Amino acid sequence: MLTRRFTATLLLLCLISSCAVNPVTGKRELALVTQDQELAIGAEQYAPAQQSQGGIFRIDPELSRYVNAVGQRLAAVSDRQLPYEFVVLNNSVPNAWALPGGKIAVNRGLLLELHNEAELAAVLGHEIVHAAARHGANAMQRGMLLQGVVMATALSAANSDYANYIIGGAQIGAQLVATRYGRDAELEADYYGMQYMARAGFDPSAAIGLQETFVQLSAGRESSWLEGLFASHPPSPARVAANKMTAQALNTTGEINQVQYETQIKPLKDRLPAYQLLDKATALVAKNQLEEATEAIDQAIARVPEEARFDGLKGEILLSQARYPAAVAAFSSALKKDSAYFEYHLGRGLARAKLGDTKAARVDLEQSIKLLPTALASNELGQMSLASGDLGNAKRYFQAAMGAGGSLGTAASMAFMQLDLPDNPGQYISAKPAMTESGHLIATVLNRTNLQLTNISIEFSARVNGQPRQAILSVAQLAPSAQVQLDSGWQFSGTDQLAAVQVRVLKARADP
Ligand SMILES: [Zn+2]
Repeated sequence: MLTRRFTATLLLLCLISSCAVNPVTGKRELALVTQDQELAIGAEQYAPAQQSQGGIFRIDPELSRYVNAVGQRLAAVSDRQLPYEFVVLNNSVPNAWALPGGKIAVNRGLLLELHNEAELAAVLGHEIVHAAARHGANAMQRGMLLQGVVMATALSAANSDYANYIIGGAQIGAQLVATRYGRDAELEADYYGMQYMARAGFDPSAAIGLQETFVQLSAGRESSWLEGLFASHPPSPARVAANKMTAQALNTTGEINQVQYETQIKPLKDRLPAYQLLDKATALVAKNQLEEATEAIDQAIARVPEEARFDGLKGEILLSQARYPAAVAAFSSALKKDSAYFEYHLGRGLARAKLGDTKAARVDLEQSIKLLPTALASNELGQMSLASGDLGNAKRYFQAAMGAGGSLGTAASMAFMQLDLPDNPGQYISAKPAMTESGHLIATVLNRTNLQLTNISIEFSARVNGQPRQAILSVAQLAPSAQVQLDSGWQFSGTDQLAAVQVRVLKARADP
């Protein structure tokens, strides 16, 4: 519901800048993100967003072709022509998402919960509306209006242990994937999605059954699972009721195609026990029960040896056990099956770095960053550059890794600070001049870092009665966040004329 003040603001903004008619709803609305920007965001973020959500489901390209065909059939009758694309992701969480510009993904975990092609059409039609009706772009705008940047949202940790380590531009896509559009946008996506189903010849009432499945799914799971599951599309009985009304108003039937759907997902269904073993092993790794995890993942590998993900998790386990040569072998095996997923390059790079195989490690880590920039890769590359005396690159890598949260981000900031301190000491130490009651010029020197600083040189300068004066003093050491008052040794009387009083930090060192 718009408040009157917001409506007035919107009107004013519409007069001076960017308003457009929403291509789906026909409503006039603020459009700060232009269509060109939407297309650019979709094109730039699609690949890294896929990586952050498990990567492409490669062993069944026929399934991806099928999902894309159903999607294109709906896209063709949508209210907005966009370069729509549909992919299946190698992720067990039952979820789907759309980026601005029509870039859509559905997890293999969701396909297993659907009963027929019409339900798949309901999922894809819903996502098409999110893209066509600018729901992602509007979410970005809300963030821009509030604080000028895309608002940071908690990334879903259910999909990948690496979600919290994503850095740089790829964070935008990861945030968009986890964006909650709000209740109105969800209802709108259901409503117009059902119109598209009807136009494309699918039975729109399949959207009711789909929504009922979602409500059941979400009721039966613990909350940590729910965070990943439908984080962006919370299911509810209200949506079931709304879909019933929409179906009644449409008053039409269409294709359901249950047999076709079952045929298409049969290979996936046959492999389900192996993916359940993967999920079991992943949960065991999180609890640090590595032997049990190994047992589960070995069974998965034996069942579906062509799936790279199983070798990848095996590599992760071996890496945690410090069994580096075996980890390298497992990641190499994963890469032979799928060379386009960042985790395998990253894992092998980390294992090779531990083995001292710096040159090969560097290639692996750089390749992982090309696919998805992470603080893990950047930090390791920073350490390697530092060890080889390449301070410029070390600084660059640590600076990139600082963007991540948690202990790794903190460690990278510390490493960056140590390298940057000699170049920009004034960034880390503040020094402010003051005059005491007895007429002494002093400086308050504050260590703004959480590092122990030593050999701090402070320069006092001023014009005293027209003559320049300068002194350099030092502070031997200063604890993290500590401050000290440094006396210049200069004392003035009321008749002295003081001008251009300055205190400057010349240099400092940080002890590791
Ligand atoms: Zn939605």
